[in-house]
Amino acid sequence: MPTLYYEKDADRSLINDRKVAIIGYGSQGHAHALNLRDSGIDVRVGLRAGSSSRSKAEAAGLRVLDIADAAKEADAIMLLLPDTDQADVYERDIAPNLKDGDALLFAHGFNIRYKSIVPPTTVDVAMIAPKGPGHLVRRTYVEGGGVPALIAVENDATGGAKGLALAYADAIGATRAGVLETTFTEETETDLFGEQVVLCGGLTALITAGFETLVAAGYQPESAYFECLHETKLIVDLMYEQGIAGMRFSISSTAEYGDLTRGPRIINDAVRAEMRKVLDEIQDGRFATEWINENKTGLKNYRELQEKGREHPIEKIGAQLRSMMPFISRGRERLEDISGGLES
Ligand code: NAD
Ligand code: MG
Repeated sequence: MPTLYYEKDADRSLINDRKVAIIGYGSQGHAHALNLRDSGIDVRVGLRAGSSSRSKAEAAGLRVLDIADAAKEADAIMLLLPDTDQADVYERDIAPNLKDGDALLFAHGFNIRYKSIVPPTTVDVAMIAPKGPGHLVRRTYVEGGGVPALIAVENDATGGAKGLALAYADAIGATRAGVLETTFTEETETDLFGEQVVLCGGLTALITAGFETLVAAGYQPESAYFECLHETKLIVDLMYEQGIAGMRFSISSTAEYGDLTRGPRIINDAVRAEMRKVLDEIQDGRFATEWINENKTGLKNYRELQEKGREHPIEKIGAQLRSMMPFISRGRERLEDISGGLES
């Protein structure tokens, strides 16, 4: 059994005497900064000059410095900028201010795994990655709970990197929920695979292809939308609560027989072989290189694909049908309220 760490396992004294800098004040940044501060940790926020977050952080009672000054003053630096912006900021403002024995901390492994950031071997490199959106990291902490987190150590220069990561996880409330140890490689590769193959890419492509097949066969787009998109949530909720077997217990035996006999024909050997290719591209760095280049060249392809998705007939019919279900948009407002946007 993998080890899970809880409050009793963390030694808070390992972070109590540290000067922590939170770089960025977005979804994760505000939650880490405020939770650490409320846990009695010495925290400052590093923001670029002219950042619109500066007044928000100051209004919350936090000390705000320029990124380079925050990095210079601190001995534990948590990078909470968008992953594609971290390398430039690191080179310019952080690297020149790292001292031997400092800790460089991340909430996702991308830049370390793909070496767009290569820290000196004289600093600790560790991850504390909450498994939930930043606004829940803050809200559950205030309510006395916490969001589970992964911790990992990439470089242990001082011998204390893991203890510090666990103490940090404790101070943001994660040990109240459970902290699991992983590696930068496992966290990065499984996160990318999950979002590409199952959660985002696989699911949206499956729904869209099902919708297109029904509409092309002459069925009403309204029926196709309800069947292929709307009901997805109802089925997923059952799986979330009771697993796949529990979901199958709740559906009709006709639905279950169709599931058992037809599902494997859809996700067939060719699809599994493609999944393995997508994983290969993650493991050998081709996906990371492609995405980093896309960012460097102005995101043209990305924007075109986004636009094509927005113009798909499933969006038009969906907007109409959802406007007749106002209870759904109330759910959406609640979500925006708590998460300030969706998963990164
Ligand atoms: P975000 O987009 O919400 O916030 C980024 C912050 O950085 C903002 O304050 C923004 O103003 C600032 N910023 C943006 N570009 C900048 C630049 N070029 N220079 C300086 N500042 C800049 O980011 P986030 O979603 O909180 O993600 C931060 C890290 O946390 C990432 O590594 C991400 O993978 C990880 N993470 C996020 C979530 C989540 O729920 N959003 C969950 C787990 C891990
Ligand atoms: Mg993810």
